[in-house]
Amino acid sequence: MRDYHIHTILSTGLFTVNEIVEFASRNGFDAIGICDNYRTNRVRSIQNIDLYLSTFRDYSIRVFRSVEIDFSIYSEIDNVFDENLNKLDYVLIENVEDMRYSGHPFWMLLSYLDKIKVPVGLSHNNIARNFSEKNIDDFIDVLESRQIFIEINTSDYYTLFGEYYFELSSDFFEKISKRNVPVSIGSDTREKLEDMLTVKKAYQFIEKMNLKENLKIFEEKL
Ligand SMILES: [Zn+2]
Repeated sequence: MRDYHIHTILSTGLFTVNEIVEFASRNGFDAIGICDNYRTNRVRSIQNIDLYLSTFRDYSIRVFRSVEIDFSIYSEIDNVFDENLNKLDYVLIENVEDMRYSGHPFWMLLSYLDKIKVPVGLSHNNIARNFSEKNIDDFIDVLESRQIFIEINTSDYYTLFGEYYFELSSDFFEKISKRNVPVSIGSDTREKLEDMLTVKKAYQFIEKMNLKENLKIFEEKL
């Protein structure tokens, strides 16, 4: 089992990497991904990638190093997409095309991605709401050609009336299960280590929607 989206005390989380690793290894995880927020005015965030990377040690399980970028008016976007991001294992981008969080449009993101050589993906995006029926096939074409991954996020925070954003976007996942679009999974754990266990729901969804190959595409890039 893996969880590719966890925050630490350096951003919005309450635990250190050591505490997270200890919980993870006791609960059947063979790898995890740390994704602290990077240079956003919306929440506490890290400001310097080198300093951030220097806080990591050797751990008993594999620990991927990532950050989450707030693609909205709350970040100084031009200062966020720098070459330092290429020192990470992958990069998560939140609030893309999401009006409720003052997010910038997807097309704008594409122009910034030319600089980034590591895998990039959209975290907890409510695709069914943010991308209309009309443009969904064009969106999928771009995801496939640019190899942008989509995260299945199992945080309670990203639900509507008790349904996860990914469940509400089943039609989209049905379409990408037949395409070479990478898929990732993440709990977005911050306050409770037990939240990491919710990724089991993402694995169930992957099973149900035939997304195993899509997860594999993501994992083979790491
Ligand atoms: Zn997050």
